[in-house]
Amino acid sequence: MGVYDEAEANDRDLHLAFMRKALEQGEEALAQSEVPVGCVFVYNGKIIGAGRNRTNETLNGTRHAELCAIDDILGNRTSNFSHVGSDLEGSNSFSESSPDDTILALYPPSMFEHCDLYVTVEPCIMCASALRQLRVRKVYFGCWNERFGGCGSVLNVHADPVGNDPPLQVEGGYCREEAILLLRRFYMKENSNAPNPKRKATRVLKTTDLDTSLTSRDDRTRISSTQVVDSFA
Ligand SMILES: [Zn+2]
Repeated sequence: MGVYDEAEANDRDLHLAFMRKALEQGEEALAQSEVPVGCVFVYNGKIIGAGRNRTNETLNGTRHAELCAIDDILGNRTSNFSHVGSDLEGSNSFSESSPDDTILALYPPSMFEHCDLYVTVEPCIMCASALRQLRVRKVYFGCWNERFGGCGSVLNVHADPVGNDPPLQVEGGYCREEAILLLRRFYMKENSNAPNPKRKATRVLKTTDLDTSLTSRDDRTRISSTQVVDSFA
């Protein structure tokens, strides 16, 4: 493996490691009976904000993981995430700050231009627009959102030539199978709790038909028939 390939492999490992942190947020959402979508924002190699879907808890359809994480960064904390500023090993570069300090006290709003977002599901149209307006540097996501995705699945909010904001860089497929399984676990649970179980309640948790490699979006059609993504991404 050449030096270039090695660097690329290291980058991929790093992306996967941050995506696993996003999946932890998704697990927290699942534990609270929310559609399990989670995310983390990374600045300069450190996680500076995290979020998970909270639409049921708040009865507010805008409380998607990405917007909760943005609020987290802006100081309006909604998450229990206590490792703001932590790297993957947990060391905290902001440890000298008081708990009330926000990242914005240390960095200007333009810092989003230097942030990457790791989110388990392709951002929806609403979130894609918000992320583009904040000029987030790049979005890495897990699985595609066939019903509401704003980064290529339904609309191309990330790339359409509208407004003054530059295109949002996006790349999907990181931990895709884990992200899908998380959603499937939610819908299995939801169906089993329904007073009048629908036909799909008989669905079993499929773990065998997932491609384990990072794939292009052309491969997504094979999993979309399961309709695992409802909304809230
Ligand atoms: Zn969204």
